[in-house]
Amino acid sequence: MGWKTLDDMDLAGKRILVRVDINVPVEDGRVTDTTRIDRIVPTVRDILKGGGMPILLAHFGRPKGQYVPEMSLRVTLPALEAALGQAVTFVERPDPDMLAALPAGSVVLVENTRFAAGEEANDPGMARFLASLGDIFCNDAFSAAHRAHASTTGVAELLPSCAGRLMQAELSALEAALSHPTRPVGAVVGGAKVSTKIALLENLVVRLDLLVIGGGMANTFLAAQGAQLGASLREPDFIDTAKTIMARAEKKGCRILLPVDGLVAREFKSGADHDVIALGPETILADDQMVLDAGPESAQAVADAFNDLKTLIWNGPLGAFEISPFDRATNVAAAAAAGLSKAGSLISVAGGGDTVAALNQAGASDDFTYISTAGGAFLEWMEGKELPGVAALEH
Ligand code: AMP
Repeated sequence: MGWKTLDDMDLAGKRILVRVDINVPVEDGRVTDTTRIDRIVPTVRDILKGGGMPILLAHFGRPKGQYVPEMSLRVTLPALEAALGQAVTFVERPDPDMLAALPAGSVVLVENTRFAAGEEANDPGMARFLASLGDIFCNDAFSAAHRAHASTTGVAELLPSCAGRLMQAELSALEAALSHPTRPVGAVVGGAKVSTKIALLENLVVRLDLLVIGGGMANTFLAAQGAQLGASLREPDFIDTAKTIMARAEKKGCRILLPVDGLVAREFKSGADHDVIALGPETILADDQMVLDAGPESAQAVADAFNDLKTLIWNGPLGAFEISPFDRATNVAAAAAAGLSKAGSLISVAGGGDTVAALNQAGASDDFTYISTAGGAFLEWMEGKELPGVAALEH
């Protein structure tokens, strides 16, 4: 942990540039989910409490360096003001003099950083301009930390920098789960495809004691062992990858847990007729049959395996959780992890892609130790990559 927090900075009378992620969903000109806005409130409040002026920098959509009226951050203003319980000054074209003239206690929101071409290019001129607007840089956008942009890394190189409260919580949880985990440590990696998660699997098998593989991805691993899985989602081109990952896991002492049974159906739809079948190297399905979820024995085996763990990382569902009843294995395993976490015997950290939705649907989210809402950044962290936005805080 080479980064500073707000507690290490002297905030009184200073302008604090705060990179936040308020890239919220909007329909008919209104914010429909304020989660991301709610999560930055502690940082803004703590800066105000310390006597600093928060100047929020954020992106919204992908305007690609152009002014796009529908991508103005102005739309977030009512939700932001409601969450903070105070007025927020919206600034289209910020300049240092104008910011200096604002009264103490002001909160400022600067227009979409991605309207400027220099943002995504991490142009040094843009970084210098941003740095001229503040005295301190505070990054509270873990979810944007895998991008080296002017407002995430460029400006961090030029000003004294620290992590905001959300970034601090996120980094602490992630470091506890993977950098210095209490062992035994395991992971659930599920979801659709091996091809999107090769780097992640390769990184995990050398660090973990247990790897549970589920979802469509498990089909590719079963196929690598010889199973013929009919119409199941799988990637024949990645069978060798699956073999390499299994061999590596064995060498490094990481136990891989694959499904031993599954729910098979002939249609990918909610309520589809289905059977429970045993799964293994000898399995041969009919051409139109597909495995849509892990079966009850597998779900129980996963839940039992969690009992031996002290730390768990979770990414991806164990089946096609959007269509009932193929959400069952995910629900059973999620409930087990939630129960152990609530009882204090397991540190559980989850995130990435559909994982948040799957765990919410399972009713397990509240009891997990930490759920990251950062998609891409969470996955890159699981891959063991250095995130530029975090590295820039460590200078
Ligand atoms: P990912 O974004 O890689 O985490 O994948 C999540 C998606 O994988 C979800 O939409 C699931 O419906 C899908 N999925 C998981 N298991 C299966 C399966 N056995 N067959 C088809 N799709 C699956």
